[in-house]
Amino acid sequence: MKVCAEYELEVLDEDLDAYMEEELEKEEKEKKLTEVDKKLLKRRAPVVSIMGHVDHGKTTLLDSIRASKHKIVASEVGGITQSIGAYTVYLDNNKDKKIVFVDTPGHEAFTEMRARGAKATDIAILVVAADDGIMPQTIEAINHAKAADVPIIVAVNKIDKPGANPDRVLQQLTEHGLVPEEWGGDTITVKVSALQGTGIDELLEYILLVADVQDLKANPKAEASGVVIEANLDKGKGAVATLLVQNGTLRVGNCIVVGTACGRVRALLSDSGERIQKAEPSTPVEILGLSEVPQAGDYFEVVKNEKEMKSIVQERKEKERDKRLDAMLPAHVRREAVAGEEDIPQLNLIIKANTNGSAEAVSQAIAQLESDEIKTKIIHVGVGDISEADVMLASASNALILGFTVKEDANALAAAEKEGVTIKKYDIIYQILEDIEKTMLSLLEPEVKEVELGKAEVRQVFTIGKTTRIAGCYVTEGKIVRSKDAVLYRDGKEIFRGAIDQLKRFKDDVKEVAQGFECGISFAKWNDIEVGDIIEVSTTEEVERQSL
Ligand code: GDP
Repeated sequence: MKVCAEYELEVLDEDLDAYMEEELEKEEKEKKLTEVDKKLLKRRAPVVSIMGHVDHGKTTLLDSIRASKHKIVASEVGGITQSIGAYTVYLDNNKDKKIVFVDTPGHEAFTEMRARGAKATDIAILVVAADDGIMPQTIEAINHAKAADVPIIVAVNKIDKPGANPDRVLQQLTEHGLVPEEWGGDTITVKVSALQGTGIDELLEYILLVADVQDLKANPKAEASGVVIEANLDKGKGAVATLLVQNGTLRVGNCIVVGTACGRVRALLSDSGERIQKAEPSTPVEILGLSEVPQAGDYFEVVKNEKEMKSIVQERKEKERDKRLDAMLPAHVRREAVAGEEDIPQLNLIIKANTNGSAEAVSQAIAQLESDEIKTKIIHVGVGDISEADVMLASASNALILGFTVKEDANALAAAEKEGVTIKKYDIIYQILEDIEKTMLSLLEPEVKEVELGKAEVRQVFTIGKTTRIAGCYVTEGKIVRSKDAVLYRDGKEIFRGAIDQLKRFKDDVKEVAQGFECGISFAKWNDIEVGDIIEVSTTEEVERQSL
């Protein structure tokens, strides 16, 4: 006769077999799909963002590239070249030398998109004015690009100016970990004058070169997906969004889901204002037809039909509501906020301090907190108050912001609240260390310790039925509880470790028996008990770590 548990096990086995089969089938299908996908992959154009300190010439550089290389067909459609947040240029008028520029210069826009989870940029151009050199926002931009793992090409700008000193810029770059190629490093630097148009072709050549190395590819045959570059509400047209198609081909009539917005694509407009029917990978395109205005950085994807579109949006809206409820909980570092490799948790930090000296001191002190089980990584160090850009970088990199004798500005505070970023401020270094150590400890799994609960001595052994033996005991220390972790000792040697099956006071089953009382103990899987044996009961407890 089979007992219930055996039937259950058999049923479970059948379930498991069916499950495994399903999983295998899925895996096979996916493998085939990825093989097909791989064959369909085609080269795609690089997408570039321009970053750098204010007034170093980002806008001028973008304008100058656009004016000289953008194929303007707008004259044919009424002479309006509209700005849609990104545009395509062709070096040497060659369609194979295509580059897409994201039209919102500055690392804030870049990081805001990244904070939404989007990676739109393949290459970052860092503009540094040769008459001014590396400035605080240049350093910020370097760190933002590095945190996103995006290759940097440096455009040393304004070389036409009398006070320009490009070599000084190269020297300063090395101090920030960007060693120019001409000095034996691997950072490409190009001397340009955005105003006069000098060096622009060379810069574009280098962009294409870096893109070649990156081997950027996409499948034009797939359903389209990509990212929102910008979006707004137009009184006449409704929600208007500029999308960057990253994979697949987007077509008029497609059903698309963008964040929590959705709709059928009513019209597609190219960056030169032409109405087009389709947009292939690495194409910026303006679309009409969305139900609401999405956010820059939201992902979009084409789905099969309206039904699927609506159900995805419904699900996302519910998730968003849950997230809002979550955000109302007190701010603290959550376990999932820790990004680490190889299973070692890592605490990402951004440090802002009042002077270079103190910023350096804080970074060095924190570097000493390393342990084998948890790492700290300083994503960015800056001087001055905590800004919105710091918060966005923290949000994009799952980092904690530490302010040392600095404040946060009003925008930073609002952004921190919205993004759920934790800002901690201190006036004394050792407080930072204490606090960070505590935070690191709280992120580690607690230690598991065995705690002894009590001991009993076997004074008599009773046999019930044919085999079951019961130990008649006297509790000599602590208490005996019915537990999984009992150990039986004979002459000081451990002879059995396992669960107590029954614990009795006279005829009653009890949960525990205190010191000085007698009790009966039997084990689930052990019968060899003798007078004089000692039974010890322990339990495991999780204890918070006290030190790294
Ligand atoms: P952004 O804040 O980085 O976007 O800088 P802008 O593009 O607005 O440029 C700031 C100022 O620098 C403007 O007055 C530009 O005309 C000037 N500028 C930009 N590039 C050059 C350049 O290559 N040479 C010179 N002489 N001036 C430039």
